[in-house]
Amino acid sequence: MVQTDILIIGAGPTGLFTVFEAGLLKLKCHIIDALPQAGGQCSELYPKKPIYDIPGFPEVLAGDLVSNLMQQIAPFQPGFTLGERADSIEKLEDGTFIVTTNKGTKHQAPVVAIAGGLGSFEPRKPILDNLSKFEDNGVAYMIKDPEVYRDKKVLIAGGGDSALDWSIFLADIAKEVTLVHRRNEFRGALDSVEKVQELKDKGKINLITPAEVVGLEGKDALEAVIVRKNNNPKEDQKIIVDNFIPLFGLSPKLGPIAKWGLEIEKNAIKVDNTLDYQTNIPGIYAIGDVNTYPGKLKLILCGFHEATLMCQSAYQRIFPDKKYVMKYTTVGGVTGFDGSKK
Ligand code: FAD
Repeated sequence: MVQTDILIIGAGPTGLFTVFEAGLLKLKCHIIDALPQAGGQCSELYPKKPIYDIPGFPEVLAGDLVSNLMQQIAPFQPGFTLGERADSIEKLEDGTFIVTTNKGTKHQAPVVAIAGGLGSFEPRKPILDNLSKFEDNGVAYMIKDPEVYRDKKVLIAGGGDSALDWSIFLADIAKEVTLVHRRNEFRGALDSVEKVQELKDKGKINLITPAEVVGLEGKDALEAVIVRKNNNPKEDQKIIVDNFIPLFGLSPKLGPIAKWGLEIEKNAIKVDNTLDYQTNIPGIYAIGDVNTYPGKLKLILCGFHEATLMCQSAYQRIFPDKKYVMKYTTVGGVTGFDGSKK
């Protein structure tokens, strides 16, 4: 069981900055995210887009903002459970919470901060009869660790950047890479499309278009997929594979959190913005894009502000008898927040 002071659900910019603000108060944090990497929308949706409204940064790429946040929180050594979705919550008699993920990992904390943004990004799945039988048994919707595919026969389906980039990457690792897309044209970056074509010409990627996966075969684990070319059953071919990875994009859903007994309005969690962004359940806070209150703006800097106030309240909750006196992170340029000489 993972134990921490503040359990943060969501590793977007809001969740990451919470670790910093909590760290200043000497509170430990652990973050759960359904995605295999930190950064939320910034990493998943627009890593190369410049952002112009982060105070002090006239311009910063979303991906660089996430790297900077990771660097900023590193001294506080947060724990991470990545690639797992927070599914259920239970309140114990001592007032602490236990949050369990879809993979069964349990986390205990006196304070839970939901920084779930638009919700957990759920993969768009192909419609195939026996798909669920092979999930985690040959079928995966995101690549957490490419090494898993070393010397394996892999079939990727999709036409966007993820499908192209992973096909290129795995061409050097896997034994065989097949890329299937239902159109001849791809939606991804031109450079990636050209690279895939080059690798096809070198015999390192087996490219099949226009085509779709229409069947999965295997006794216990996945053994083969049926690929239909030109929408014509006469052109069906059976491809022996170890892994099938449909990369059809991710769509955000508030998902299981919506059933935690929290007050929800228009797919967002209602909070007390006059005080500390606490929800209707004491000890559970909601910060960043996931919350709603009069005048709410879904902006990164608003999430940072909410995280800061929320941590002050969390401190009072965890240490009701201690009086915390807010100090600046640097005083007179002498000492850094982590105790280092500045
Ligand atoms: P998110 O970034 O959405 O992160 C939430 C994380 O929580 C996700 O990683 C998700 O997987 C995870 N999660 C949710 N539910 C669960 C669960 N049950 N279990 C585990 N994990 C879960 N804002 C600006 O300020 N300036 C801009 O220029 C700007 N440009 C934008 C451009 C685009 C194209 C988009 C889409 C948004 C833009 N935004 C911008 C908005 C900004 O990205 C959001 O305000 C910000 O990402 C919110 O951060 P967050 O940490 O609250 O949530």
